[in-house]
Amino acid sequence: MNYYSLNRNSEKTSFRNAVIQGLAPDKGLYFPETVEPLDPTFIKDLENISNPEIAYMAIKQFVGDDIPEAELQNIVTETLSFDFPLEKVEDDIYALELFHGPTMAFKDVGARFMARCLGYFNRNRKQDAGKVTVLVATSGDTGGAVASGFLGVEGVDVVILYPSGKVSDIQERQLTTLGKNIRALEVDGTFDDCQDMVKTAFLDKSLGEKNLTSANSINVARWLPQMFYFFFAYKQLQHKEKDVIFAVPSGNFGNICAGIMAGKLGLPVDHFVAATNINDTVPQYLKNGTYSPKPSKQTISNAMDVGNPSNFVRIQQFFDQDIEALKAKFSSYSFSDDQTRKVMANIYTASGYVADPHGAVGYLGLKKYLGQNPGKTGIFLETAHPVKFLDIVEDTLGVQVEIPEQIRAVMDKEKIKRSISSYEELKRFLLDSK
Ligand SMILES: *Cc1c(COP(=O)(O)O)cnc(C)c1O
Repeated sequence: MNYYSLNRNSEKTSFRNAVIQGLAPDKGLYFPETVEPLDPTFIKDLENISNPEIAYMAIKQFVGDDIPEAELQNIVTETLSFDFPLEKVEDDIYALELFHGPTMAFKDVGARFMARCLGYFNRNRKQDAGKVTVLVATSGDTGGAVASGFLGVEGVDVVILYPSGKVSDIQERQLTTLGKNIRALEVDGTFDDCQDMVKTAFLDKSLGEKNLTSANSINVARWLPQMFYFFFAYKQLQHKEKDVIFAVPSGNFGNICAGIMAGKLGLPVDHFVAATNINDTVPQYLKNGTYSPKPSKQTISNAMDVGNPSNFVRIQQFFDQDIEALKAKFSSYSFSDDQTRKVMANIYTASGYVADPHGAVGYLGLKKYLGQNPGKTGIFLETAHPVKFLDIVEDTLGVQVEIPEQIRAVMDKEKIKRSISSYEELKRFLLDSK
């Protein structure tokens, strides 16, 4: 399997190289050259197949010969060592809970898969090839998932950039308290500033020896494993007689783009709904046909505060840049913090289900679409445990959320971080570290 750059100005490359490089040399995102649908009997039989086996079948063509079969099976089995329950919230509406992993955010799967792939590639690199540095910008949850996923991986250093004052206390603890090969930089700026610094570093030739790579969803090893969720949801859906709609709370649009890939592999999905907060670049594009990225605005669903979603180019590629073809399969709506809080309260009153602000945005998108297209089964992705947004959830619902073990473990550890405010400072930090 080869990957090409969506900017079409770089050589094609293998899975291994795409993972190690992150972004193509021409700044483009890597995209698989071919996608072979899976055997339809496999899809029909999902109920009887284990999660690791489903994941292995879904991912293997994208890895090709770069990781041997037994090793890849190991990697997916270790990656998926927790549950992905589908919870009924009301008639024909389900929440797919993706927060049962070590950092209680859906990004655990992508981070764990990528860390293990990189660990495997590193074991097979020459001794003198030097360490790989994973450089990652986070709007909240990526940092913790990457820190936990990569902790202790031989030959890999991790540097996490996060916007000062714009992530929750628990999120900050998850990425600043682990130590070892994980270091955190607090950036005086927004998430977009963090992301821009990371992109600049990748193109900076004077950092060549650092072997920088990305663990954001631009990296194919972070992006592609997210398609597993859609298979796991479908597997658990008992009544499949109605069309299935997935609503995904979206920021960088990596998760929903992986869902579209699951559809390309043959999973029967009728329609995708990308729900956003007021960072509405994509909903606006679908409305008026112009794509104009804007600086990100802060909201209560902070992991989606993205003004220029990096994976949208991949979604456009799936539909050959044809906006009408895209709209036939994909809708996108934006919602305010007020609407989000109201619906969190409504869901709780009606069903007792506690949704976090991100899941609630997904629910809003689902309801909006189903309002215009009734008679279907809807699944919204619950991307974070409510405890990760404790203040907002407790304040909005008037309930107390029990703090799970994974979170309690970081609550009173000391935060260790360095503050930076410019690219020059980031560069010096990278060059000074051994
Ligand atoms: C990252 C994240 C999202 C957005 O996912 P994308 O793949 O960037 O669209 C949604 N919810 C939570 C909790 C997240 O951490």
